[in-house]
Parts: sequence; C-alpha cells; structure tokens
Amino acid sequence: MNDSSVAQKQLVALKRKLDTAIESRSSLEDDFNLQSNLLIQFISKLTLISKGVDLELDNRLAQLRTLFTKAAPFSDIKEKVAVISKLLQQHSITNEKNISHMHDQFNQAGQSLQKINGLPGNLRRDLRALLTETKDSKDALIQYIPLLSKLLTFYDHALKAKNSTPTKGLLQPPEIITSTSQSSKANDSTTFDSSVLEKISESLSSLPLSTEHTNDLLAIKKKLMADQSSDEILHHLIDIFDVIVADFKDEQHSAKNFLTNLSATLSTVQSAVKETISSQKSSQLINDKINQKLQGQLIEMTDSVKKALSLNQVKEDINDKLQFIASTLEQKSKFEQQSHQQLVNKLNEMSEKVELLENQSQIFEEKLVEQQRKSMQDALTKLANRAAFDEFFAKSMVRFHHKPFQLALVVIDIDDFKKINDSYGHTAGDKTLQVIANTIVKNVGKDVFVGRYGGEEFVLIYAKTQEKELTAELNTLNKYVARLPFKFKSNKVSITLSIGATHIRSDDNIHIAFERADQAMYKAKKQGKNQVIYTK
Ligand code: GH3
Ligand code: MG
Ligand code: MG
Repeated sequence: MNDSSVAQKQLVALKRKLDTAIESRSSLEDDFNLQSNLLIQFISKLTLISKGVDLELDNRLAQLRTLFTKAAPFSDIKEKVAVISKLLQQHSITNEKNISHMHDQFNQAGQSLQKINGLPGNLRRDLRALLTETKDSKDALIQYIPLLSKLLTFYDHALKAKNSTPTKGLLQPPEIITSTSQSSKANDSTTFDSSVLEKISESLSSLPLSTEHTNDLLAIKKKLMADQSSDEILHHLIDIFDVIVADFKDEQHSAKNFLTNLSATLSTVQSAVKETISSQKSSQLINDKINQKLQGQLIEMTDSVKKALSLNQVKEDINDKLQFIASTLEQKSKFEQQSHQQLVNKLNEMSEKVELLENQSQIFEEKLVEQQRKSMQDALTKLANRAAFDEFFAKSMVRFHHKPFQLALVVIDIDDFKKINDSYGHTAGDKTLQVIANTIVKNVGKDVFVGRYGGEEFVLIYAKTQEKELTAELNTLNKYVARLPFKFKSNKVSITLSIGATHIRSDDNIHIAFERADQAMYKAKKQGKNQVIYTK
C-alpha cells in the first residue's frame, strides 16, 4: 500500500466522522422537536383547565391552542402569549376595583350604623375603633372578611339593644322577622316565622359548598330549626354567613393561586422557548462555520495530495492538515456537547415548572368536578337535586322523541310530613327524609333515576319498565315504607307515601308529562293517601 492510498483511506475515514457528526446533530434536533411537541400539548391541556374563569381568557386560550395545532410561527405564539399574560394581569386590576368597592360599602355601612340614635356607649366606641382600623383600603378582599364579620356583630348588638330599649330611631329589624309573631321570652319580643326558617333551611340544602362546610352548615341548620328566640336565630344566621364566606374564601384563594401560577408558568415557558430558539439559531451558525472549516480543510488536503511533487511533501502536508482537522473535530464535538447540555438544562427547568403546575391544576380540576357534582346533589339526602332531575328528564324526553321507549315518571310525596316536624322537631323531619330517600334508592332498580324534587317530594324516572311491573314495584315500595319502624320520642310512628305514576306518550312535552304524574299523586292524596295511582 503506498502513501497516497493511505491518505485516501484517512480521507474516507474523516468523511465518515463528519457524516456521523451531522447525523448526531440531526438526532439532537429531533429530540428538541419531540420535547417541544410534548410541551405544546401540555400547554394546550393546561389552558383548557382554566376554562370558565373568564370568557375573554377562554377565547384567547382557544386561539393559542389553534396556533399550536397549526404549528404557527413563534412570533404569532409570542404575540398571543403576551395578550394572555396581559389578561391575567387584568384579573389583578379587577380585584383591586372590587377591593375599592368593598372598602366604600364597608365604610358606608359602618357610618350608617354610627348615625343611629341610642347606640350603647361601648358599642359606639368599638364601632369607631373598627372604622378607624379600616380607614385605609386593605390589600386583598379576604382581609375584609373578619372586618365584615365584626361589623355584622355590631349590627346584631344594635338590634338587641333595640329589643331591650324601646328607643325610637334605632335600626329596623331585618325583613325576616315578621310583625305577626307573638312574644315568647322576656328580652326577646320577636320570633321568626317558621315558614321563613324552613325556606332558609331548604335553600341551605342546595348550596354547593365543600364537604367540610356542608357539614358545618347542616349542624347550624339543625340548631336554627331547634331554637326559637330571635337572638339565637340571629346568631345562627351569622354563623351561616361565616361558613358561606369561609367557603367562598377557600374557593377564591385556590382560583387566585391557580391563575397566578398559570400566568407565571406561561411567562417562564414563553421566555425559555424564546431563549432556546435563539440559542438554537446561534448554535446552528457556529456549527455551520465549523462544518465549512472542516470541508475547507478536507478540500485543501485533497488539493495538496493532488499537487504534491514528492511523497515526503505529501506526508508532511497531510500530517499538519490532519492535526488541524482533528482539533476542529474535537472543537465541534465539544461544542455539540455544550449545546446539547444547554438544551437539556432548559428543558429540565421547564419540565419542573410545568410538573408543579400540572399537580396544582389536577387538584383544581378535581375541585371543579367535585363542585359540579355538588351543584347537582341534594345536601341532606345525597340524592340528585331538582336541577339534576330537570336535566335528566329533559334529556330522556329528547331520546324518547327520537325513538320511543318505556319512559315513566313517578312523583312521590310523603303523607302528613308537616306533622312530623310539628310534633317531633325539624331534626326528626330531616332524619325521616334521609331514611325515606335511602329506602327508595334501595327498593328500586339500579337503573332508576331517583331525585329529591324539593321539600318532602321525590321523583323517579324509569326507562324500561312497563305499567304492570311499574305499579307492582311502586306498591311494594309503598308497603315497605309504611312498615318502617320509625320511633320519635319513644312513640312508634308509621310514615306513608302518596305515589303518582305515568308513562310518557308521543304527544307529551316535559310539562304535560310532569303535570300528569303530579295529578296522579294528588289523586292518591284525595283518595286517602298511602297508595299508588297510575295514569295512562
Ligand atoms: P300532605 O300529606 O298533604 O302532603 O301533607 P304534608 O304535611 O306532607 O304537606 P305540606 O306541604 O303541608 O308540608 C310539607 C312540609 O315539609 C312542610 C315543610 O316544613 C316540610 N319540609 C320541607 N322541606 C323540609 C326539610 O328539608 N326538612 C324538614 N324537616 N322538613 C321539610
Ligand atoms: Mg308536598
Ligand atoms: Mg306531603
């Protein structure tokens, strides 16, 4: 083998090395593309989670998602992200406006109370101190909650002061205290209308609060229905207010945290992507330069092999040039390692942030699902509530009109339920509602929709039961309930139901169908209660 063929061989080897370097560079780019796609998908998912917080934000995020799916140029994405970041900032501005509004309202309410004649001296002093404390606007809405609670207590004291001293010009009692109520206690000249309390109690059952706050609310509701003096009732109402405010505070806190984090992460991802892209561009330039240098060196070497007059000259030339090429290759591999490491670091940094947010958004998403579920559930009986029934029945009717099936509607009303409340108290009434609800669920098929329509009325929707089977099942349920061994204050009590049922007809709409089932239930009442009436 002569020297020239050795040189040729070395040239081939060098070219191979160059090809490998180019290949590894392109695999690096593939990696980058794969990871940015992953990030883009994640950002798209993330934007869906904040849906419903603000309509405009929803629209902008939807546009951002479209840009991602179209693989739009980075400049378009950057522009959109900037708009979204601004929108998120606007949330803080709205918040500030709300604070200012709350501040004004708080001070007005406090000042109105100060203007009342005949307030006890100590109350007047404390109220002045509270108003001085709130002279300056607070930083967050949440900070007004304890202050509002205090102000409410002052209003409560002022009402009490009015009850004990018949001074003219004091605050008028709130509307819920009725003028027809008779006096019961020495220092408590007013009692609450029980029907108003029942209305409040019913409304409380439909509040979609967190489990913890719902339990608090049910406990206060129990006390509310047991106590009769307006003093005690006022305190319970304040407690209810506190629970609702606490739930609102939790909710607002988590939503605010989520938005702040979303905004921060979007900004981080925005700047990281920008940085990565610009560093990609500059490393591409450097890499191209190195490649050009290498090619130049190879061409030079080939030329000098061709032009060489003696073997010794070739040897010398090639040796020098090979050293150059070797050092350029080393430079190239170092550079590639460096830029790869930079990319990895950037991506790791982004993934960490994104992972953190992913955990948080998952919690937030779970909360939203839970809230959605709660808004469709009756807090006392845990059955579907009226809203859930309306939705389910409407959907069933649409399906029925599309293709008829054995769709039946049943209305159940507890007989003489008012007597239970009147004789054994509201708590006994609540317990009874829970037992009856559980009994209905246990006695009907799994595919039957069971809901609490309101008060002591329940609704069932059957989807594949014919008249005969349906009336048989309802009669069995009726007998089963009538035999339940209820015991209140050591009295054995039997509770019965009046049940109306009907199948949906092709010329029915929601209202006509419901009216027919309801009329059937009333017929059962009129005919002596504790029975099932089916109307075709
Ligand atoms: P009827 O046999 O004619 O149906 O008589 P009734 O007493 O059952 O009917 P009425 O409509 O006169 O009274 C229903 C009562 O149900 C009145 C209300 O106090 C009570 N109620 C409604 N919701 C609740 C609740 O959530 N808890 C309790 N304990 N009672 C409730
Ligand atoms: Mg009723
Ligand atoms: Mg009833």
